[in-house]
This record gives sequence, structure tokens and C-alpha cells, in this order.
Amino acid sequence: MQQLTMICPHCQKLVTAPRAAAGAKGKCVFCGGVVEVPFRAKNCKVCGKDTAGSPRIKDPQGSYYCVPCYEIAKSRALNAATPIVPQVYFPDGEGG
Ligand SMILES: [Zn+2]
Ligand SMILES: [Zn+2]
Repeated sequence: MQQLTMICPHCQKLVTAPRAAAGAKGKCVFCGGVVEVPFRAKNCKVCGKDTAGSPRIKDPQGSYYCVPCYEIAKSRALNAATPIVPQVYFPDGEGG
């Protein structure tokens, strides 16, 4: 079964959680701190493609982008003059 991986915000260690725990909160096995499990493992925030195994960029919020999408996201942010804020996108939601 595929595991979700994330960095513990308390001890900065790589922790794993079962996919079924996506969106829930869990406990870090190293420090016991509460860790929010991301909805997706390494899916691009722009196009939703799974970036595992391909070149990808991780932003300071921990979101993944494929390289071309990151450029798009960056230029969009510049055009809008607002920083990119982390948001959860759902496939059936409005475009954006
Ligand atoms: Zn920890
Ligand atoms: Zn992408």
C-alpha cells in the first residue's frame, strides 16, 4: 500500500502515514508531535499530476509542483502581486 510522506513540523524528520489517513492528523513517531497528513503525496498543485519519479519543486509550504507548473505558478503570483497561498484543490471544483 502506498504511503504518504511528510516532514514533521516539530522535529523536521520524514514521517510516513497510510494513504487512508490523508487529511487527518497523526502523531510523529519520533517526537510525538501532531502532524497533519496531506491529502496527496507528491501531486503537482497546479495540474494534479503525480510528480513522484519526475523532476519536481517543493515550495516552502510543502506543496509540490512539476517544473513547468512551478514557473506558471510563479509568474501568476507575480502578475497578481500576491503570494501563492496553499489551498486544497478538488478535481471537480471550479477552475483556477
Ligand atoms: Zn516529529
Ligand atoms: Zn503540474
